[in-house]
Amino acid sequence: MVHVSFPYSAPVSQTLFDRAAAVTPGGVNSPVRAFRAVGGTPRFMVSGTGPYLTDADGREYVDLVCSWGPMILGHSRPEVTAAVQEAVARGTSFGTPGEGEVALAEEIVDRIAPVEQVRLVSSGTEATMSAIRLARGFTGRAKVIKFAGCYHGHVDALLAAAGSGVATLGLPDTPGVTGAQAGDTIVLPYNDLEAVHEAFHTHPGEIACVITEASPGNMGVVPPRPGFNEGLKSACAKNGALYISDEVMTGFRTSKAGWFGVDGVAPDLMTFGKVMGGGFPAAAFGGRADVMGHLAPVGPVYQAGTLSGNPIATAAGLAQLRLLDDAAYEKVDAVSAELRGLVSEALNKEGVAHRVQNATNMFSVFFTDREVRNYDDAKTQESFRFTAFFHSMLSQGVYLPPSAFESWFVSTAHDERAVERVAAALPAAARAAAEATNSPEATA
Ligand code: PLP
Repeated sequence: MVHVSFPYSAPVSQTLFDRAAAVTPGGVNSPVRAFRAVGGTPRFMVSGTGPYLTDADGREYVDLVCSWGPMILGHSRPEVTAAVQEAVARGTSFGTPGEGEVALAEEIVDRIAPVEQVRLVSSGTEATMSAIRLARGFTGRAKVIKFAGCYHGHVDALLAAAGSGVATLGLPDTPGVTGAQAGDTIVLPYNDLEAVHEAFHTHPGEIACVITEASPGNMGVVPPRPGFNEGLKSACAKNGALYISDEVMTGFRTSKAGWFGVDGVAPDLMTFGKVMGGGFPAAAFGGRADVMGHLAPVGPVYQAGTLSGNPIATAAGLAQLRLLDDAAYEKVDAVSAELRGLVSEALNKEGVAHRVQNATNMFSVFFTDREVRNYDDAKTQESFRFTAFFHSMLSQGVYLPPSAFESWFVSTAHDERAVERVAAALPAAARAAAEATNSPEATA
């Protein structure tokens, strides 16, 4: 019987983790990083170059997480580093408007037709929180529809049945969120338009907005079924609600214009983060000018931020976006397709039931043979096989997201050598997945 073993130790990471755990809850500043779902020692990374990360023990990994999406050009891309260095030399924060934030806003507006105006913030959480507030202020209504398994950051009202770390850790709805904060949130199954129509029917004139991941990546990758986003848009239009597409993960990642560039469904409001910050804290929300016009100082809906539009973050984001032309997306899409094929081939060889699902270059591997259309489907996968697979890959120098409920990310820097290293690791990892058993030790 094979249980998950941790094939080698990581003594320096372990020492750092022990130090971290003494001063930070769980030793991490964002829960999934703690490896709780897969066990073992989280790797403390010290540097990144191209498609590689190096940990504190001096081991190099092919990075298939890319900082959870932002590093679409790989690590330490010289043009982005140069833009950051140049910005730093001019000062790090002014608390005044600056040209960099105008240029970044213009780049976003140019790329994404439904965005007529945009406001910069510092995290995806702030973007979705502000978009919801604006939708409520604009419509004068309180209720929000969200979908189970979609994660929109740790906004109180949006943590109900959330994906990402909430799914990874199997947390019920989070303590600390009061009934009042979550009481206006209606949680529906993803990809179920009937449920949306029924909710509008049950709550006439009460629903401010529907918020959805443009193509979810936080319960693993679960793309919208054909017509789903279009159906959300028309249900919102018919009922006087706003359609908010959360593109924090998909924005500037799944295409030049994010998921909007794929399905062409124009939302009323959109949220962005990750790629647009070039590895720095920059995010945004934007959309129809008449809706955005309700924001302070023009309108009454308040929203603000000391570091919003920070000159370093905007310089990094702008440099990254300017490098993301059609050829860059072709490259990332091609690498993703190649890796998806290799993973499937290896798992098939070992007879491991699985499904690889993708949204252009975002993809994840579900250890189930069923199509995954929603969060309930995602939860039926055999996660213990992922655990074995993950540790085998890690021990062979491939860094995967430490959870079966997360997307894998690649970059333009993932070249032939990096792909070959992943390919070389896959047979043993597939064998480990095949031999894994669902024992308590496997998830310890
Ligand atoms: N929305 C989506 C779709 C996300 O994937 C995330 C983070 O993963 C967020 C919002 C929150 O972004 P942040 O972690 O920057 O607060």
